[in-house]
Amino acid sequence: KEKHYSMMIRARIPGGLLKPEQYLVFDRLADEYTDYKNMRITTRQTLQLHGILKGNLKRTIRSLNESLVTTLGACGDSGRNTICCAEPGDEPFRMEMRHDLLALSDRLSAKTNAYHEIWVDGEPVELAEGETEEPLYGDVYLPRKFKVAIVPEGDNCIDVYDNDLGLVAHIENQHIVGYTVLVGGGMGRMALDQETYPRLASPLCYVARDEAIDTILDTCVAIVTMERDFGDRSNRRFARMKYLIDRRGLEWFKQEVEERLGRELDPPRELTWQSGNDHLGWHRERDGVSYLGLFIPYGRIKDTETIKLKSALRDIVREFQLTVRFTAQQNIILSGIANGLRNAIEDKLRSFGVPLPNELSNVEQNTMACVSLPTCGLALAESERALPELMPHFKKLFEELNLAEETITIRMTGCSNGCARPYNANIAFIGRASGKYDVFLGGSSLGTALNERFKETVPIDQLVATVRPILESFVEERELGEDFGSYWRRAGLERFRSIAN
Ligand code: SF4
Repeated sequence: KEKHYSMMIRARIPGGLLKPEQYLVFDRLADEYTDYKNMRITTRQTLQLHGILKGNLKRTIRSLNESLVTTLGACGDSGRNTICCAEPGDEPFRMEMRHDLLALSDRLSAKTNAYHEIWVDGEPVELAEGETEEPLYGDVYLPRKFKVAIVPEGDNCIDVYDNDLGLVAHIENQHIVGYTVLVGGGMGRMALDQETYPRLASPLCYVARDEAIDTILDTCVAIVTMERDFGDRSNRRFARMKYLIDRRGLEWFKQEVEERLGRELDPPRELTWQSGNDHLGWHRERDGVSYLGLFIPYGRIKDTETIKLKSALRDIVREFQLTVRFTAQQNIILSGIANGLRNAIEDKLRSFGVPLPNELSNVEQNTMACVSLPTCGLALAESERALPELMPHFKKLFEELNLAEETITIRMTGCSNGCARPYNANIAFIGRASGKYDVFLGGSSLGTALNERFKETVPIDQLVATVRPILESFVEERELGEDFGSYWRRAGLERFRSIAN
């Protein structure tokens, strides 16, 4: 008799957008097939269903495919779910960005037929004459996962610098005129291996957006093939494209890409960023229509005794037929809400005990935690289940120090892999052992600077006390308008050396 293996399914949802009927399929499958009866939003704007018995995998994946959602390419060594700012709106550039996102996601999808044979219908798929099995990834795919993100300049809600390939849209007269291309970002590191490190992506070039967007797609494909052909296949630890770029140099990388394209690349444009927030709360979507950004505590859509979040979303999405957009900060945007329905939706949320964003503190809204225990096999410490316990203490501390209105990001992970993008958070707790965390400080709420390790293996009950003196110094010494990350970089780790390790 076969053991009852329990699995996780992750979908591929480019830009995190689901039609109401698609969202409701996930909601039903979570109830029917998962042990936990809940869903997890990821930092790549998609959904994970944890605790599916192996015997139910095929049924679950087939149901998703029937609702036109795939799991192909959500994991594995190929282009992962392409992420994009989820904010809805009627400005032409948003439509253009969505168009480019889907075109790029399609171009970077594996063209394998095995997926459908194995998971969907069991029928061997006939290949057309001359059709190669896998035109981009070949027989051996990439050395490692490859992450792609698109964002409008100024709004870094998705942490574009943390991706292998980032496209920053330059907008003029509400249209995208071109993209600055960033390469070589990635969060993962190994706690005890100093040769591994997080890295923010470097600006490589500017590509004008032509009608067919072929130029930008070809540039992206050329970059992916650089990783395919030169990425380290001998040591998985150094397989991400960031190590290739640092090993061979950005100039070498650029010249190789130019050779593959047969043309010179234009220099990247200067980038400026005004915001990294996640579009929570009520906002105008278009005339007469609003969207609501809802904070989802640590990405978990579930019902508890007091807060029936999963039931509330199901009810609202079904009754009002709303489009659902997952954000890269593990939250949800409900879009397409006629202004006249705003009160009805707020009443519904309240009736299920779900707080509205304006009822939550700033510090709560700017937190993220990875999945970690009990379902992640790599976890060394708690994360998603631990951070909520700490939040009341941080909330109290922030109020005491008059920082309640400040945007200070706090992220926690159960190991150094960095799935909740902790290395550019203002404050990060990274699991090292059961109940112990490395504390990283600095970073940037705009996602444009990395933090630094301040203290190692701090017991969980001392995390708030460890951060307190630094926040007190920030309050006392900050310059007018200076944020926490900028203060840390100005003051420097040396300033706090006496209280660090
Ligand atoms: Fe698992 Fe580590 Fe990723 Fe957290 S950061 S989900 S513990 S691999």
